[in-house]
Amino acid sequence: MTDAAEQKMRFMFALRSKGVTDTRVLSAMERVDRGLFVRGLFAARAQEDVPLPIACGQTISQPSVVGLMTQALEVGPRDKVLEVGTGSGYQAAVLSFLARRVYTIDRHRRLVREAEEVFRQMDLTNITAVAADGTRGLPEQAPFDRILVAAAAEDPPGPLLAQLRIGGIMVLPVGQSGAVQTLLRVLRTESGFDYQELRPVRFVPLVEGIASE
Ligand code: SAH
Repeated sequence: MTDAAEQKMRFMFALRSKGVTDTRVLSAMERVDRGLFVRGLFAARAQEDVPLPIACGQTISQPSVVGLMTQALEVGPRDKVLEVGTGSGYQAAVLSFLARRVYTIDRHRRLVREAEEVFRQMDLTNITAVAADGTRGLPEQAPFDRILVAAAAEDPPGPLLAQLRIGGIMVLPVGQSGAVQTLLRVLRTESGFDYQELRPVRFVPLVEGIASE
């Protein structure tokens, strides 16, 4: 077996052993080379199940956490999905194999630009990346069937709850930045919202407003 094939096998094994069992999620993750989304020094570690630094002081999430969040989101092939926190673009690329359409927002223009380059390189034509403040959602494309937030807020932002379709699901980390946070799954019902706590996680904070680069 080549080194690359062995690395991929270990990568997929790590996902399964941490509880990513949904076969659609696993096959989407098998198709996305995480190495394309990590630049510079850390690129050599892209196949490890660890978060890694990316530009603008941000991080690409741990693959097993990407898998568990994607699994909890229960994305269907006709779904329109919003991701808040594009970062490297890795999570959006995984979602693009499961959904009809993916909108992804980051407050750092540079991250949006770099992620768009990789989407083009991979020929992922169903992703739209936008440089904007994701705490406000993307009202012009709402409502969304699914919303995934990749940065931690103290509470689910009101505009995101409002932009979730009835029957829609949102997965997001909530809690103080720097502390251990809780991954939350929110289901919008006819009469309100059902909340389910999934597991402890650690994410960079959701910061209001657009960044300077
Ligand atoms: N999903 C990413 C990891 C995201 S890290 C990946 O797969 O690589 C969290 C990201 O959230 C960072 O890039 C940060 O810039 C972004 N972020 C933080 N606050 C934000 C906000 N208000 N609006 C949009 N993006 C935000």
